[in-house]
Amino acid sequence: GQGIEKGLLEIGDLRAGYGATVILEGVSFTVPPRGRLALLGRNGVGKSTTLATLVGQTTRHGGSIKLDGVELSGLASSARAAAGLGYVPQTRDVFKSLTVEENLVTGLKGRPRAALEEAYALFPRLGERRRNGGAELSGGEQQMLSVARALLGQPTVLLLDEPLEGLAPVICDLLMDALSKLDMTVILVEQQIDRALEFADSVVFLDRGRVVHAGPAQHA
Ligand code: ATP
Ligand code: MG
Repeated sequence: GQGIEKGLLEIGDLRAGYGATVILEGVSFTVPPRGRLALLGRNGVGKSTTLATLVGQTTRHGGSIKLDGVELSGLASSARAAAGLGYVPQTRDVFKSLTVEENLVTGLKGRPRAALEEAYALFPRLGERRRNGGAELSGGEQQMLSVARALLGQPTVLLLDEPLEGLAPVICDLLMDALSKLDMTVILVEQQIDRALEFADSVVFLDRGRVVHAGPAQHA
C-alpha cells in the first residue's frame, strides 16, 4: 500500500567548519519529501561544506540535521548513510584498477542485482561498460558512476556536489536527464544557475557561510 512519504530533511541553525574554524554560521533550510533543492552561491561560500556537514565530515559546532524527524547530527557518517543520506562529493573517486561493476558494488553487502540493473537502466553507458576498467571511463562516465554508486545505497536524500563540473554540454544534458528521473529528495550544488533552476523546485543561496536567499526556484 501507500507508505508514509520519506525524505523530509530539516536543517536548523547549523554552525560548522574545519576544526576551530567556523565556516557555516546558522544555516537553516527544509526540503520536503522528494523535494529538489538547488544550493547556490559563489566559489568558497560554503556549499560543499554544507553537504559535508550533513554527512558528518566536518566539525559541527551546533545546530540540527533531522531526516524524517530523526536527529542525525550525533551519528557517524556510516550511520547517516544507513539512515538514508546518499552523497556524491565534488571529487570523483573512481577506483581505476576495478571494473565499473566492481566500483559500484564495493562496500555493499552481496550483489544487489536488481539495484544494479536499475542503475544501468538510468545510465546505459555504464551498463555497456560494466566490465571495463575504471581507468577507461570519460569524465562524464566517472560522474555517472559516482551518482550510480550513491543510488545503490538506496538513499531517501541524495546530496550532489557539482556533478556537472568539467563536463561538455551534451554530457551535462545526459546526466541532468537521468537526475530528473530520480524519485527522492535531492540537494544539488551547481555552478550553472540555468541548469540548477531547471532541475530544482526550491533554491538556497549562500554567501560567506550564511543563507542570503531561500525560496521557490521560479522566483529566484
Ligand atoms: P566551490 O564553489 O569553489 O566548490 P564552496 O561553496 O563549495 O566553493 P567550500 O568548499 O564549502 O565552498 O569552502 C568554504 C570555505 O571553507 C572556504 O573558505 C574554504 O577555503 C574552506 N575550506 C574548505 N574545505 C576546507 C578544509 N578541508 N579545511 C579547511 N578549510 C576548508
Ligand atoms: Mg564546492
